[in-house]
Amino acid sequence: MTSIPSRLARLRHIVFDMDGTIYLGNRLFKTTLPHLALLRQLDIGYSFVTNNCSRSRAEYLAHLREMGIEAPAESMVVSTHATIHYLQQHLPHVRRLFTLNSPGADDDLRLAGFEIVDEAPQAVVVGWDRRFTYDRLCRTAWHIKQGLPYLATHPDRICPTNEATVLPDCGAICALLETATGRRPDAVAGKPSPAMLQEVMHRHILAADEVAMIGDRLYTDVRMARDAGVLAVLTLTGEASAVEAASLPAAERPDLIVEDLDELSAQLVAARGN
Ligand SMILES: [Mg+2]
Repeated sequence: MTSIPSRLARLRHIVFDMDGTIYLGNRLFKTTLPHLALLRQLDIGYSFVTNNCSRSRAEYLAHLREMGIEAPAESMVVSTHATIHYLQQHLPHVRRLFTLNSPGADDDLRLAGFEIVDEAPQAVVVGWDRRFTYDRLCRTAWHIKQGLPYLATHPDRICPTNEATVLPDCGAICALLETATGRRPDAVAGKPSPAMLQEVMHRHILAADEVAMIGDRLYTDVRMARDAGVLAVLTLTGEASAVEAASLPAAERPDLIVEDLDELSAQLVAARGN
């Protein structure tokens, strides 16, 4: 088995989860900008991934820019893009989609060459839309019931919030549709599906051993990294603790646990001997 320092020495790209990893809510961690500067200095590329498809890529880039992170467009990967990658790989004939999704996600699907239609779709994509109507839900169930390919963008049942409310997310909407139609999605593209990381590796022509994924959740970020065969790094700045990580079976544990991005910077510098 290859040692962690030699895997760190070989890295060409790091994939970052967002909330709990580079910021918490609207507060950027003070370690984030110095860490990204180090990666540029070491010529290591980076991407950001999120399951939350309520925003388009352009809206996320603007959000990152507000926090001081300048990121090229292709570095932002939303579960919408993993869904696009899945469609291109598995259903290359599909062009016309019926969606139950946010306007931002529909924008990204159109940018990838898909048409969003109400009639005669070739597939159904369910994501997360906080403004959908009952009528739209009924039409979605109808198209699913017709046996069309049915994809969900991500499995999250709720979107975390500090407000006095519950935000049912894509997974909960799919559960409702399952009750109504008897069908589950044929595929769920977002984390923990490795489709998210495969999209990044495909785009940048990277082998799995040249990539690390860092995140704060064991059952999404770490599991996706393990399933995709990339270096799985857990940061303790968000949800999971080291104790929880240690309680998992060996095959599901992170390869590396760091307190924060500063510690990852230090390990990268040590591994590269500079
Ligand atoms: Mg997170």
